[in-house]
Amino acid sequence: MAELVILSLNRADVIGSSKRADAIKNAELWADDMGKEIACFLCDSQTETPPFTMILPDVKSYHSMMAVPLCRDCGELPRMVRLNRCIKLLRKMWSKNGKQVHFVF
Ligand SMILES: [Zn+2]
Repeated sequence: MAELVILSLNRADVIGSSKRADAIKNAELWADDMGKEIACFLCDSQTETPPFTMILPDVKSYHSMMAVPLCRDCGELPRMVRLNRCIKLLRKMWSKNGKQVHFVF
């Protein structure tokens, strides 16, 4: 069964990277998990290798960000739709006692 892998990244590394570097980095990012079947963060189906990488804020620390894997279908969603669905899921993950969760981008 495919498993969900969430990576923790340094915010400074993420913000400083260029588009071209991103493509190379994407493969490197998931290098340790290449042998695994990785599940899509949004729909739980198996992703391609390497998966589409979605960068999201980490609620625990401003200095880190999370990289979550998406399948091809979810990766091809319009950017705002994709982001919205991810944020909704994160809210569920992090909201305790119905408290609001705030994100810093
Ligand atoms: Zn998906």
